[in-house]
Amino acid sequence: MPEGPEIRIAADRLERALKPSVVTEVFFAFDHLKPYATRMRGRRIDAVETRGKAMLIRFDNGLSIYSHNQLYGRWVVRKAYDYPATNRQLRLAIHNQRKSALLYSASEIEVLDPVQLVSHPFLSTLGPDVLSGGTERVLERFTSKKHRRRRFSSLLLDQHFIAGTGNYLRSEILFVAGLHPRLRPMDCSTDELRVLADAAVAVARQSYRHKGITNDLEGARVLRAQGQTRSQYRHWVFGRGCKPCRLCNALIVEDTAASRRIFICPECQPVHG
Ligand SMILES: [Zn+2]
Repeated sequence: MPEGPEIRIAADRLERALKPSVVTEVFFAFDHLKPYATRMRGRRIDAVETRGKAMLIRFDNGLSIYSHNQLYGRWVVRKAYDYPATNRQLRLAIHNQRKSALLYSASEIEVLDPVQLVSHPFLSTLGPDVLSGGTERVLERFTSKKHRRRRFSSLLLDQHFIAGTGNYLRSEILFVAGLHPRLRPMDCSTDELRVLADAAVAVARQSYRHKGITNDLEGARVLRAQGQTRSQYRHWVFGRGCKPCRLCNALIVEDTAASRRIFICPECQPVHG
């Protein structure tokens, strides 16, 4: 599933394609959304926002298209009406004179007016966004009484706890913070929780700015110059089971937590508490 940084990168592409020109046509695959198409034609798009892994396309008449890609949704930006050859189902298309933004396979698409936007059951209960919120708000979550007994492995996937993190970010953030996924906030000092909040924000933002690279940037550059592929130099630990840790040479352990793959350095991320 694309995580916060990938959704924000897709939103940037959409903004570049859609903001400069008047919308000439909108297509919705779902019947209950079709009536909105005429209200969007001839309008402009003010912004393409992200809230965690959800996207909001904000029209200048107050309507917003909400989409959540889940596992299969995929945005494609092409020249106007230049549809790619694909077996995927087109669910939403926004056209202007130059470009078409096409959303394939996504099943979670809604149109919201300003009132519905504020009270939306998913959006209104999201945690602070690691890409747009400050570290302090993320730290508040880690130090709150309500969550202190939950393991980091589940907290870092819970969008109502913090928004925008997903499976690869979970492994990478915990490695950078030097914390084992089985630990809970109550097992850690305030200093450790601050380091974790800093890591959550820093790793997610670096991933956004550097197209998914969460490894040390200079280290990744050197490995790339040595001929390693992107998947080899991209991460600290994620996807690197049985490979040596980049910091201490211990073998990275692959495990399962909250039904998803997780990668841990047993030396850099000791279990304590
Ligand atoms: Zn290590």
